[in-house]
Amino acid sequence: MPTETHCPYCALQCGMKVMPEGSSATISARDFPTNRGGLCQKGWSAAELLDHPERLTTPLIRDRKDGDLRPGTWEEALDRIAFEIARSQSTYGRDSVGIFGGGGLTNEKAYALGKFARVALRTANIDYNGRFCMSSAAAAGIKAFGIDRGLPFPVEDIALAETILLVGGNLAETMPPIMRHFEAQREAGGKLIVADPRRTPTAMAAHLHLQLTPGTDAALANALLHIAIADGLIDLEFIEDRTSDFDAVRRSVASYWPDRAERITGVPVRQLSQAAHLLGEAATAMVLTARGPEQQSQGVENVLAFINLTLALGQVGRPGSGYGCVTGQGNGQGGREHGQKADQLPGYRKIDNPAHRAYVAAIWGVDPADLPGPGRSAFEMLDDLGESTKSLLVFGSNPVISSPNAGSIEAKFRSLEFLAVADMFLSETATLADVVLPTTQWAEEEGTMTNLEGRVIRRQKAVEPPPGVRSDLFVLHELARRIGCPEKFPAEPTEVFAELRLASAGGVADYSGITYERIERENGVFWPCPGEDHPGTPRLFLDGFPTADGRARFHPVTHRGPAEMPDDDYPLYLTTGRLMSQYQSGTQTRRVRSLMATAREPFVELHPSLAQRLGITEGVEVSVRTRRGVAQARARISGNIRRDTLFLPFHFAGAGRANLLTNPALDPTSRMPEFKVCAARLEISPAHLESL
Ligand code: SF4
Repeated sequence: MPTETHCPYCALQCGMKVMPEGSSATISARDFPTNRGGLCQKGWSAAELLDHPERLTTPLIRDRKDGDLRPGTWEEALDRIAFEIARSQSTYGRDSVGIFGGGGLTNEKAYALGKFARVALRTANIDYNGRFCMSSAAAAGIKAFGIDRGLPFPVEDIALAETILLVGGNLAETMPPIMRHFEAQREAGGKLIVADPRRTPTAMAAHLHLQLTPGTDAALANALLHIAIADGLIDLEFIEDRTSDFDAVRRSVASYWPDRAERITGVPVRQLSQAAHLLGEAATAMVLTARGPEQQSQGVENVLAFINLTLALGQVGRPGSGYGCVTGQGNGQGGREHGQKADQLPGYRKIDNPAHRAYVAAIWGVDPADLPGPGRSAFEMLDDLGESTKSLLVFGSNPVISSPNAGSIEAKFRSLEFLAVADMFLSETATLADVVLPTTQWAEEEGTMTNLEGRVIRRQKAVEPPPGVRSDLFVLHELARRIGCPEKFPAEPTEVFAELRLASAGGVADYSGITYERIERENGVFWPCPGEDHPGTPRLFLDGFPTADGRARFHPVTHRGPAEMPDDDYPLYLTTGRLMSQYQSGTQTRRVRSLMATAREPFVELHPSLAQRLGITEGVEVSVRTRRGVAQARARISGNIRRDTLFLPFHFAGAGRANLLTNPALDPTSRMPEFKVCAARLEISPAHLESL
């Protein structure tokens, strides 16, 4: 019998069936509300990872810093990690050991990792790569609505919206099955507006494409609200009854008149007006943001500006309407709800709130005073490696590829006294480790994930892992035992989930009413779900907002622009993003033959007029330079990108590593790096010139 589970990759968490076949499995799609029987190429080919020849099946150990990794036993590897933790903490203090987690880990693992850091290591130093995914939208959601849940409605609501504005997301390539919901919306007569510096396949499917200058999202949102106010499109009754602080926003958008907005954003006045009217005249409208506006040093404000627009139109709290963030990573949502983030405890409790600390400490059987305080955010932790952070444990993440200013971060990894990495393949980060632990992957393990809708779903074991491979929960269980931690760290996901339910009870992300059986029976359960007799909460904000006064809050936003603007030395904008056939740092997808056949190497996308000016022809090797480094890739000439902008996909290692170039300027609230825009220079690669 095939096992019903979910795709290992993105936050859509498409339903699939997995049938064991020899040492691998065959995959078939299943009808689940998010994917309606569809899968993308990544999902279809995911079984190739199970018995992949490069799969790690034994721990690897480096005896000396200048030596090679060699195969070792689990006992040896775990003893070495425990020894290094003790050595580091007794020499430099508890916070000298850090943990870096991943947005693909199950809820059970994310919870156990947070508890392990606070209770076993007693270090404040824990964060995860989800910080690079949607922390700006999370912070904005909390400010405006009092809660952070990616989509506050099920994806089926997309089909109910008359107009949708999608900002900075290329869903047709990154999560193709979700387009079934957009197609249903179109068939019902709905309109789609896409804002993106590139004319992506998603933008091509839209009724209106706003091809804005990178880094001008706040100005775009303010201009749309300016027009909506001027043309009488806002919902004064909703504003009066359900929100606060609108007047400050009304004043702040007054200076974003259409001509000025066109000069800032590059979007023609006619299109600005058309977009504002499509949204403002719709009975139901939705505004969705993705990484485009969020991965900026003004990311939180960008999102707040789009929330302002949605609130002013009165399009929140009704089916088919609302603001939502389209989460990227498989468990980006759940990963931050249960304590893997530097400032959070399980259930979305705050680590600096005395009542929250007391509640979680009681579940964990420790004195609240013994829990560490907030730690550094992901990039700040990585930037500190080798300084006060001497040892690092990495679980399911590859920051040498995925962090901004990656060349500098790689050097910092090399300066660590000790690095352990738990992964299924020898990622670029794992190659630098002193100990590498081979861990289980999606179809080999049990647990829960929380998808982009806030729907808690079940990952089910379909195949046996290869001999020699262990789960992350086993690793934490064994390490806690070795370092003499008296608290329990169960290795069984069911036991961990039972504890997680208790720890989250009464919190914002309350999972206490969710059981594995309910998830299976009900096609997932939406949090908050405070009791087993509670139906879960597919739609938030129907009656009010979880703020102190029950109202949503407007926040005035001023367009500041990117931290780094083009100038004489670096005259172009550089933006980065994803491809259909690759995923994140590529640790998995760069090992799948069928995916590599369609996207095997990086490229630099540029406009034909720019190519002509610089004498660049299709396929020529070019160099992109920024103040942080240089990357090389072949030129791909396309009229679908702005004349002043370059695009590089970020999945690749080697000379084409896009994050060698990106700017680590951080948003002051979310600590999100500015992946999406920096200043760059383009030239024909010296190697190509020499070959002529
Ligand atoms: Fe997997 Fe996302 Fe593709 Fe669905 S859209 S098959 S979850 S990668």
